[in-house]
Amino acid sequence: MLYRKNPKNGDELSILGFGCMRLPVKEDGSIDEARATRQVRYAIDQGVNYVDTAWPYHMEQSEPFLGRALADGYREKVKLATKLPSWMVKSRKDMDFFLNSQLEKLHTDHIDYYLAHALVGDMWDKVEKLGVADFLDKAKADGRITNAGFSFHGAGEDFKRIVDAYDWDFCQIQYNFLDERNQAGTKGLEYAASKGLGVIIMEPLRGGMLASHVPPAVIEIWDEAPTKRTAAEWALRWVWNHPEVTVVLSGMNDEKHIVENLAVADRAYPNSLTEAELHLARKVEQKYRELMKAGCTGCRYCMPCPEGVNILICFEVYNSLHMSGNADEAKFLYAVMLSVTLSVGEPEFASQCIKCGKCLEKCPQHLEIPTLLESVVEELEGPDLEKRVAIAKQAFKRT
Ligand code: SF4
Ligand code: SF4
Repeated sequence: MLYRKNPKNGDELSILGFGCMRLPVKEDGSIDEARATRQVRYAIDQGVNYVDTAWPYHMEQSEPFLGRALADGYREKVKLATKLPSWMVKSRKDMDFFLNSQLEKLHTDHIDYYLAHALVGDMWDKVEKLGVADFLDKAKADGRITNAGFSFHGAGEDFKRIVDAYDWDFCQIQYNFLDERNQAGTKGLEYAASKGLGVIIMEPLRGGMLASHVPPAVIEIWDEAPTKRTAAEWALRWVWNHPEVTVVLSGMNDEKHIVENLAVADRAYPNSLTEAELHLARKVEQKYRELMKAGCTGCRYCMPCPEGVNILICFEVYNSLHMSGNADEAKFLYAVMLSVTLSVGEPEFASQCIKCGKCLEKCPQHLEIPTLLESVVEELEGPDLEKRVAIAKQAFKRT
């Protein structure tokens, strides 16, 4: 495992952090706690020393899970990060309420890296007015938090404004080769680093999209490189190639991926990709832009939809249709994933959307969700949907 220094405080942080937003789950959707605990502890045993969670992850069960997973001496081996749910904060008092509850849930007396969660310009204005600077100062002074930061999903100009508004120790931004000009982007990364902040990266694989269901046209481009790497390694190496990056968070829930990511983190030095390799990454970016229809990262902030639409699965299948070009497979997958073939509960199809607009303000990617869902209906539903659902149920032995 390689380590990079947080320039603000000298902490030596593992370049790979463990993100607890996409832990393995059981059939009923709850965290598979035994498996997830083994995964988190294995990663720590292999040198990961930065673990990240947040109030809303896994329907508010990620923090209590992590509190238990970090027992038996594991808490002391890591820098623990969690976040103030900014959108739930209505008063200065709420900030202390959330932090104190989080300390309890996480079975700890301090949070090493505490972030104001999911800031965009307006959200920052709100929490600033409510006294977030005073809250962070006091929580640092009384030892409940060690470092103060923020995670960001807004527009580039707001990022700079927020960086300049407080004496932050670090920040967390979405960054990958498709997001160079999106949100904070490369400009934001460089600006935060120039101010001496540690920079934590989220969504290095864009919710897994850059690593799984990779379109054949993209694989072809990667295969032009003399050094063979998986699509996941290319995407991670591209992020780590930036010397301004401190930690890259990966929401790992499959043992194979954990082992692969750990191995990549042993050799991902800054500025280690060649000019020719960076050129290939630019070609891949271009190809994705041609193929991708919905820029969803799978963050789940828009969920649950009051009408039961599983927005992110709709977009995942929709993107895979356009990236793989395999309509039969995508249509079958759509029926399997959104009927009750593999779960209990109600169907979750795009056509259930009533365009209430409630999801719009929650989407950090500012996607036109109801409009995109209309296209999903057009391309993935149709008169044979019922038949496909029946076939899917038969295939998975559900009546
Ligand atoms: S606009 Fe559609 S998808 Fe969004 S919350 Fe309303 S019903 Fe759900
Ligand atoms: S639609 Fe937006 S809020 Fe919903 S999962 Fe995708 S990126 Fe996240």
